Amino acid sequence: MRDSSAALSAVRPRRVVTDRRGGRSAAPYDSFNLGVHVGDDPDAVAANRARLAGELGVPGDRLLWMTQVHGTGVAIVEDAEENPVADVDALVTATPGLVLCVLVADCVPVLLADPVAGVVAAVHAGREGVRAGVVPATLAAMTRLGSRPGDVEALLGPAVCGLDYEVPAQMQADVARVAPASAVRTRRGTPGLDLRAGLAEVLRGAGVGQVVHDPRCTVEDPRLFSHRRDGVTGRQAGVVWLGS
Ligand SMILES: [Zn+2]
Repeated sequence: MRDSSAALSAVRPRRVVTDRRGGRSAAPYDSFNLGVHVGDDPDAVAANRARLAGELGVPGDRLLWMTQVHGTGVAIVEDAEENPVADVDALVTATPGLVLCVLVADCVPVLLADPVAGVVAAVHAGREGVRAGVVPATLAAMTRLGSRPGDVEALLGPAVCGLDYEVPAQMQADVARVAPASAVRTRRGTPGLDLRAGLAEVLRGAGVGQVVHDPRCTVEDPRLFSHRRDGVTGRQAGVVWLGS
């Protein structure tokens, strides 16, 4: 048996989204790039990751990364890992102090936190992930750790907005089958995708009690990395953990 009031006082979910500022990387990764897979100097990325850990007040080896593949793979993690978790798009943990990181530069970082059960998740949700159901897969993994969707709070981080995300009509239809609210028009009047609108709909449909939006658009905001705007560029991170 678990006393949920004690759990509430013992662990507090924390969520952070980084931006481009204050890092070590040179253009076009300037400057707080956290991605190792985009061609940046590994030493600069290591320095940036060390700074992130310092600002969060956690040892660097508690940051947990993944090699994201636009799929629906979910890893439940219980301890720090030396290497990124391979070939998954979501990390879930009930271990306090283990810091889950998702790298993005237009895709949606979805940060899920259940303060009652003490379970958190970081999800990489781009077009393919939304279509394939990475968020329901993550909620199922959280449930296996004792979480209830009604207790989960979701943060949808900065991403390309629907006005700026033009896609072919068939691609829009494929995503809209799963998340009808994602189908929008771009500012040019062409078929577009608002992935955050679609994800909010999916989360509410799954019974998630609270969905909060960070409305910033990566394409429009020069303080954020955007692959769609800049091509070769860095990655910001969505970060979630159970603090003490
Ligand atoms: Zn936009």
